[in-house]
Amino acid sequence: MNLILLGAPGAGKGTQATGLSEILNIPHISTGEIFRDNIRRNTELGKLADTYISKGELVPDNVTVQIVKDRISQKDCSKGFILDGFPRTIAQAEMLEDILTTEGKSIDKVVNIVIDDEAVVKRLSNRIVCPSCGETYHLEFNPVEDNKCKKCGEQLVHRDDDKPDVIRNRIAAYHRQTEPLVEFYRGKGKLMNVLSESSIEESLQNTLYALGLKGI
Ligand code: ADP
Ligand code: ADP
Ligand code: ZN
Repeated sequence: MNLILLGAPGAGKGTQATGLSEILNIPHISTGEIFRDNIRRNTELGKLADTYISKGELVPDNVTVQIVKDRISQKDCSKGFILDGFPRTIAQAEMLEDILTTEGKSIDKVVNIVIDDEAVVKRLSNRIVCPSCGETYHLEFNPVEDNKCKKCGEQLVHRDDDKPDVIRNRIAAYHRQTEPLVEFYRGKGKLMNVLSESSIEESLQNTLYALGLKGI
């Protein structure tokens, strides 16, 4: 199954993608995580991406699309993939269609994770992440003991872009540039809205239900 997870920053895309990836046994592709990995390794791509990410702006479409193109052409994506945080503009969505058509593939479903802006701010300001493996936690909703990653033991941190002024810009960028994708995919008959106002576990169940996978 080829899936897209759509939603505001902090909606829970990464959290749900991690769960779905384990259940469906297909890779989770997060463009944000690919950028952060490049920033950590101080690559040219990382340096470029950081100039946008640190301000809460989107990285240019041509840069982002090339990364996704390379990633989905890899062998582990042959049985399906979960795109988290991509596409984020109509132009990216159109370029994705071209890439997939060339490869004889298509998107099966788009899960739109629905949440209001106020809840998003609460999720982002208390999000903590592992700087080593990218695993995501929350001080209140998904807490950990000793502030250490359950997967690799690393000390957890707040993301640099989870600061109030950057969060504001990211939410504005979402409404301006990404939200039009809801109508784009609705028009293609691929969109399913999933509420994410309850707990992490319940939100994942809502998504599985919407995908017709409940009971797996
Ligand atoms: P996104 O990838 O959409 O930016 P994340 O998956 O990183 O969002 O989630 C943002 C924060 O909210 C994280 O700290 C995560 O632990 C928490 N979170 C995710 N889903 C839920 C939920 N359904 N209820 C409460 N907290 C959640
Ligand atoms: P979140 O869902 O919490 O906003 P992500 O990890 O998806 O976080 O993205 C972090 C940042 O990386 C974004 O604010 C943006 O600057 C950049 N980014 C990620 N995906 C894209 C994309 N598809 N197009 C442009 N920029 C992106
Ligand atoms: Zn870790």
